[in-house]
Amino acid sequence: MQIALVGIGKIALDQHVPALKASSDWTLAATVSRHGTVEGVPSFTGIEDMLAAHPDVRAVSLCLPPVPRFAAAQAVLRAGRHLMLEKPPGATLSEVHALQDMARASGVTIFATWHSRMALGVAAAKAWLAERPVRSGRITWREDVRKWHPGQDWIFEAGGMGVFDPGINALSILTEILPAPVHLTGAELDVPANRQAPIAARMSLSRGIEVDLDFRQEGPQTWDIELQTDAGTLSLRMGGNVLEIAGQPVEGQDDIMQEYPALYTRMAQLVRDGASDADLSPMVLVADAFTLGRRNVVEPFEF
Ligand code: NAP
Repeated sequence: MQIALVGIGKIALDQHVPALKASSDWTLAATVSRHGTVEGVPSFTGIEDMLAAHPDVRAVSLCLPPVPRFAAAQAVLRAGRHLMLEKPPGATLSEVHALQDMARASGVTIFATWHSRMALGVAAAKAWLAERPVRSGRITWREDVRKWHPGQDWIFEAGGMGVFDPGINALSILTEILPAPVHLTGAELDVPANRQAPIAARMSLSRGIEVDLDFRQEGPQTWDIELQTDAGTLSLRMGGNVLEIAGQPVEGQDDIMQEYPALYTRMAQLVRDGASDADLSPMVLVADAFTLGRRNVVEPFEF
């Protein structure tokens, strides 16, 4: 099936293009970006032009930042093509609900991806937790924004989500592996004096789960989830890729695909099945943190 990629920036070039080149399901037939291109692939600067020129492109994958994504997503669905969204799926919950309604009315697939849910230890963690209630937990997601998002000012603008841009990956894993939903009970957001979005945040969730997110981490980076149960502690480290139970590594996940190839395989399956997948539970927790969270003004931030 032919697919087009929109927003040729960091994640498109790092992950989407290699995953599509290796895919037996998809052919990258066109790109849309104002500046970015992919060698050997027809490129466009406007999405409407691409859609008109490529009626054979069945699906479009959007790698734009969340705020400009909605207009592009509407254009894709209006043209009757299947839609795949980078995380977070939009700038607001209501715009993603609107996209879901449009996709349903047009009979096309919408896939709101959460790449961290495809990390190597996640499925096994979910299976282990299915019958073991979580008593408490801690998420520590601390990374260096200058290293992972160099110069991406959009991330600190309204709708960019700040530290929740990586933090929502942790929440996507948590909401996937827990057998029952959690909700937010409190939050604190540290917002630089010259920015609109938080650079660090703490969240308290039901089931005694505490979340510590920080974009100012230099040196070793931490993407860990630890959940206490009566049968011992389950730890997912390295962004969900390393699973330990009661201090022992859990082996046997080598046959699982890397995150982005797995996302494109899932997208192909959804299209074949005429199905959609748009779970907004990680985004609900972030939206609730913005609603309920106390704000602290912290020192200005420059890249
Ligand atoms: P990025 O490189 O800053 O942006 C991607 C591309 O989108 C840009 O190169 C730009 O292409 C286009 N773009 C940027 N701002 C735009 C605007 N206002 N209007 C229209 N087009 C605009 O960002 P990214 O790191 O790839 O992240 C994109 C999405 O992927 C985000 O939602 C992020 O959460 C997610 N993601 C990122 C990473 C990561 O490690 N960076 C990992 C996983 C997921 P043109 O200028 O050529 O149009």
